[in-house]
Parts: sequence; structure tokens; C-alpha cells
Amino acid sequence: MQTYNPEKALLRARREFGEHGGVAPSISRSATFTVIEPGTMPEIFKGLKTPDKNGCFLYSRHFNPTVDVLSRYLAAIEDTEAAMCTASGMSAIACTLLQLCRSHDHIIASDTIYGGTYALMHDVLPDMKIQTTFVNITDIDAVERAMTPATRVIYTEAVGNPTLRIADLRTLADLAHEHQAVLVVDNTFSPIIVSPARLGADIVVHSLTKFINGASDAIAGVICGTKEFILRLMELHTGRVMLLGPTMDPRIAFDIIQRLPHLAIRMKEHSRRALAIAKHLEGMGLAVRYPGLPSHPQHQLMTDIMNKGFGHGGMLCLDCKTREKAEVLMGVLQNQEKFGLIAVSLGYFDTLLSCSGSSTSSEIPETDQQRMGLSPGLLRIAIGYTGDLKSRKAQITRALKQVGMV
Ligand code: PLP
Repeated sequence: MQTYNPEKALLRARREFGEHGGVAPSISRSATFTVIEPGTMPEIFKGLKTPDKNGCFLYSRHFNPTVDVLSRYLAAIEDTEAAMCTASGMSAIACTLLQLCRSHDHIIASDTIYGGTYALMHDVLPDMKIQTTFVNITDIDAVERAMTPATRVIYTEAVGNPTLRIADLRTLADLAHEHQAVLVVDNTFSPIIVSPARLGADIVVHSLTKFINGASDAIAGVICGTKEFILRLMELHTGRVMLLGPTMDPRIAFDIIQRLPHLAIRMKEHSRRALAIAKHLEGMGLAVRYPGLPSHPQHQLMTDIMNKGFGHGGMLCLDCKTREKAEVLMGVLQNQEKFGLIAVSLGYFDTLLSCSGSSTSSEIPETDQQRMGLSPGLLRIAIGYTGDLKSRKAQITRALKQVGMV
């Protein structure tokens, strides 16, 4: 497979100018849109006139010109036919699953996924009689064994949160398609780096809140897929995005549009620094997990599936064994060394530190955490790109010495 260059794809897709020749696109904030002829309105409701057929907009919970621009750019990055932005990553995931599954349907999901997604599948969807089996997604036999005639979806993160397990997307896509199911991939940890749709995924979702927006000042999401699926989500009578209503505000869309041109540069820099810090930690004999290290169990797979030139991503994990140890280390890293901030989330320009087992994965019961290889002392480090790398290495070394880890 030829490597894809999402950076170039975005360049080709960008064509909007603002009013009056502005180099920045204009924001279309109108909630509702007028028509010249009254007879046009019923035609819009029948789907005979749509934004992409005749430029007819109706109402901004349906389609909005500015949100459409961002959706089109993200479809170009993911190499899918279409995309629809949403108000959060969780709404992108929830609407996708609710569109694909009916009661008595079944999902197979990776057991190492974001805690909110786990809770949705484990605690909410069963109320709608949609059951999920969680499996180790790197064990393809286990995925196959979990298949039932009711399986509609295989769900995984390309790079799993927080254990950084890499999913073999090509094999999972083949397996899903053999069983008339669809492969849904959350690509939040690896935008630009992995292109799941090119590896066979049917639908790609993101929390744009993270790397894609990159400024930790907005909550947003996107669903990328076929045009048919996106139109189904927006259908006036049954579309889950249209009717559940997690609409993206056009002002948020504008902000993210303005940050996309430097996404590739940011990902390269997150990756470069994460690799350097990971090597540094490994060199001191610490239990570090980073997909760019040959010691990572799926290093070869990651190297095989990723687009070349953007590195192995900005996330790494350091196993401090106990939560107490991880917390002491985080305290020193933030309050003395100014290495990063104790905060959930990722993809920010400053480094963010969190102990996953007791925060963003706390929805997952402890026994399941152990099974998925999530130690209570697992420190998730979302490497930022502020400060110089040499000082960052010195800061983390001093902190580790202070807490007695080296
Ligand atoms: N997917 C992953 C991998 C995440 O880490 C998160 C949030 O942390 C989400 C989805 C949910 O995204 P949001 O907070 O934008 O709803």
C-alpha cells in the first residue's frame, strides 16, 4: 500500500476564502436559512434540495456552511468520502453506534479504549439491549471467537487509550467484512499518522478536542465515512446526529479550521519529542511504553501501518507500579520542575500528565484494568512541544531521582 500524505490531501482540499478576499474563511453563524421561493422549502424537507446538490441550507443543526468546510477538510485528512463534525468526541462515537446498531445487536470492542466509550458500551447501551463483548484487540482469534450472528460493529482505537496497544486494522477490517459487520476506528491518538479508512475501516471517529484542535480550548468531534453513511446520520426523520442534536458551533468549526494547516507540523514535533523522552526513560531502565520503541509489542505493526514522515505519535506511558508513586512523580513534575501539567486530555502544546487507572479509565473496573495491562501506577504522558528538549530531559531526570525511581 502506498503511504498516504494527509498533509498534502488537506492542501488540495483547502479552497475557501473569506468574504472580501479574506485569507481566513468567513464564519456563517446563521441558525436558519431563507429561500427565495416558498416552494423550495418542501423540496429541502424531501431531500430533493441539499447543500451539496443545490447549495440549499435549511437549519444549522442540519448542515452549516462553516461546519461543512471543516468536515470536508477532515474527510480529506482521513481519505473518506465525507465527514460530519459534532459537539464532542463522545457524541461522534455515540451517534455512530446508535446509527449502526438496533436492539439485540452486538458490538465487539477493544478492551483498551477511552473510559467514557467503555462506560457507554458497558453501562448505557445495554439499556437499549445493545450488548458489547470486550476483547484484547491484538488477539485476532479472540475477536473471531467473539463474533455472533448479531455482531454489527468491531470497535477499536487505532492506538489504544491508555495502554498504547496498536490494532491491526487491515486484519480487523477483513474480519468485520467477512461477517457483514463494520469496522469503526477511533483515531484520536494518531491523526495524520494513521489513516484507518485506507486500511479498510468503514468509519473513523475523532475527539477533535485533542491533537486536531491542539489548544485545549474546545470540545469537538467528527465522524468520517461514506457519503451514504453521513447522509444517513443527517437524515431529517431518522438521522442520529440530526435528531439527537450534538451540533458543532460554527465558531468552534472556524477555530479548528484555522489550526488544521499546522496539524502535521505539530504531530511531527509531538512525535519527535515523545520518541526522545521515551528513549531517555528506557535508557534509565524504566518501564516505558511508546510505539516508536522497538521494545513496544506492536512496534513493527505500527511502523507498517503508519504514514511515513509523521513519527509514532505524542503519547507515552511510564509504569510507576503504584498510584502513590505516580502521584508523587506527577506532583514533582508539575509543581517543582514545570515539566507539564496534571490534567486529563492530550494533544496540547504543553505536556499533560494523568494517572489513567484513577482518572480517564476509572470507569473500567479494576479487574478489567488489570486484564488489559493497565497498572494502577500507569502514568500517561501526552508530550507537548514547549520548552527545549534538553531541559525537558533534565527536568524529568531530576524528578525521577527525587522520587527514587532512578
Ligand atoms: N476518544 C478518545 C480516545 C478519548 O481519549 C476521548 C476523551 O478523552 C474521547 C474519545 C472523547 O472525546 P470528547 O472528550 O471530545 O468527547
